[in-house]
Amino acid sequence: SRLLRIGLIPGDGIGREVIPAGRRILEALPSSLGLKFEFTDLDAGFETFQKTGAALPERTVDVLKNGCDGALFGAVSSPTKAVKGYSSPIVALRKKLDLYANVRPVKTVATAASPIDMVIVRENTEDLYVKEERTLEDPAMGGVYAEAIKRISTRASLRIATMAGEIALRRQKLRESGFASIHKSPLVTITHKSNVLSQTDGLFRTCAKEALAASRFVDGGVAVEEQIVDSMVYKLFRQPGSYDVIVAPNLYGDILSDGAAALVGSLGLVPSANVGEGFAIGEPCHGSAPDIEGKGVANPIATLRSTALMLEFLGEEQAAAKIYTAVDANLEEAKLLSPDLGGKATTEEVVSDILKRL
Ligand code: NAD
Ligand code: MN
Repeated sequence: SRLLRIGLIPGDGIGREVIPAGRRILEALPSSLGLKFEFTDLDAGFETFQKTGAALPERTVDVLKNGCDGALFGAVSSPTKAVKGYSSPIVALRKKLDLYANVRPVKTVATAASPIDMVIVRENTEDLYVKEERTLEDPAMGGVYAEAIKRISTRASLRIATMAGEIALRRQKLRESGFASIHKSPLVTITHKSNVLSQTDGLFRTCAKEALAASRFVDGGVAVEEQIVDSMVYKLFRQPGSYDVIVAPNLYGDILSDGAAALVGSLGLVPSANVGEGFAIGEPCHGSAPDIEGKGVANPIATLRSTALMLEFLGEEQAAAKIYTAVDANLEEAKLLSPDLGGKATTEEVVSDILKRL
């Protein structure tokens, strides 16, 4: 059997109500899968910052780096006004662990009237998010102006597109094992704006095409197409069912993935993973939801799907598929739904219904 050591970082607000659900579903996986889990509770977030002065304690980073195979991250609250010394722990974690990809599946149940099942793969380390901005002044520019660096590298573009190709291949396996996935065959859509930004986005485009031309993708039947990002938004909203895997530089990926999440009804359904070499952190896309905190009604599904996604990146596709199937069965039956989906069920009722279906 294989032992997986999982760090649990609930963070703030409903993070504390949904992360335990991730732990429970891992513990409830059938023993025939041959998986054993060891959990370590780790601190991070705004409350940790207020108690200790650090939003991301050294111990959390050390344990993740040296004693974990993967992790689950809940959500953190950001102060409404900037607080000196506070910065987002998940952003810091992505840097410290070189989690270069943000992977976000957006999916309805297969029985939905217009089913959607796609994965957005966002480059997570560069582009405008290198935050090299400056403010200058020049009378010829009409006074004060500001500018920012958009950095695109060959290395980061090749590796993110390679990951998109791997995901397309893996989805093919899920399809073959009976998953009612929507798009009939593996397809990666490269998103960019190289018609205007011929050097930066042009490089991303060239590298992505090169990476996806590798023989294992071609032989695996992965088709490749490209979309200029603005028309991508149009098509994404008009015909979301026609996409499989979308790969994009950081900024476009950020915007596309939040937009796509709006297509499936509730933030409480949408998972993500931050992925690096041999490490993955599952993270629901929602925040700490102070408006429902402590009421026991947070939807745990984004976290359960994030847990499955983490398992996928740790090479445990079968275990992940079990979780996806159990979640889909709960949603398809639609008897025990949380209030964000129009139901009356508590977090606990949704979790125990899904555990029963494992
Ligand atoms: P939010 O995602 O916390 O909530 C937005 C709305 O969606 C709220 O009405 C909330 O009740 C609902 N919602 C979110 N998750 C839900 C779930 N699992 N079940 C049912 N309903 C759910 O976004 P916000 O209100 O803009 O932000 C609240 C706090 O979270 C802020 O401090 C913000 O900075 C932080 N935040 C953190 C992250 C993160 O940690 N990755 C992401 C977004 C926001
Ligand atoms: Mn975003």
